Amino acid sequence: MIPVLTIDGPGGSGKGTVSKRLARELGWHLLDSGALYRLVGLAARNRGIDLANDIQLAEVAEGLNARFVVPDTGELVQTWLDGECVDEHLRSETAGADASVVAALPKVRTALLARQRAFARPPGLVADGRDMGTVVFPEATLKVFLHASAEERARRRYKQLMEQGLSANLRALQEEMEVRDRRDSERATAPLKPAADAWILDCTDIGIETVVSMIRERLQQ
Ligand code: C5P
Repeated sequence: MIPVLTIDGPGGSGKGTVSKRLARELGWHLLDSGALYRLVGLAARNRGIDLANDIQLAEVAEGLNARFVVPDTGELVQTWLDGECVDEHLRSETAGADASVVAALPKVRTALLARQRAFARPPGLVADGRDMGTVVFPEATLKVFLHASAEERARRRYKQLMEQGLSANLRALQEEMEVRDRRDSERATAPLKPAADAWILDCTDIGIETVVSMIRERLQQ
């Protein structure tokens, strides 16, 4: 059985950074499932598809021509869509909001299931998302749900965007984040919530380093 560690939680909870760190330290594969939903939104925009058209969006999701490239030199994964590096577009708040709209469509979620499960390859997988423990990998070895206050999450996302040279407004960011959290938690299919057997970790006041070592310790138990 291939070991799978799922890390779910709302935006800005630190799950992306924690997942990347763990995947690197463990030498496991990494699934950034949010990037897949962002790519569906982006591909749809590029093709002029209405974000409410679930049939066309599911087709986009099914045929997504995406590649995740890990450059030799750095830890940052590059994301390519239809032969173009789309990192800059993908991390914007608009792409995040579009992702959350298309992610509410059951047909889109179903279309991405097999692609996500195919990431589980030896020696193991760290899966980052919203429904990794509840839907995509219900038999995961360890399920973690990361959680932090809305203020702290907005502050972290703001810092992240600044570091990437993207512009942002902290207040607008928090409001946007709250809208997205509500949409993600209230949707009928795969709402954002911890799996019944998830380990819930509030990391509002805990640094990334500590969270990473706590999860590694738990994984070894
Ligand atoms: O994690 P990230 O911010 O990249 O995710 C963007 C959006 O994609 C989320 O707000 C959520 O609506 C959606 N998503 C999802 N299920 C996942 C990962 C992301 O619904 N497993």
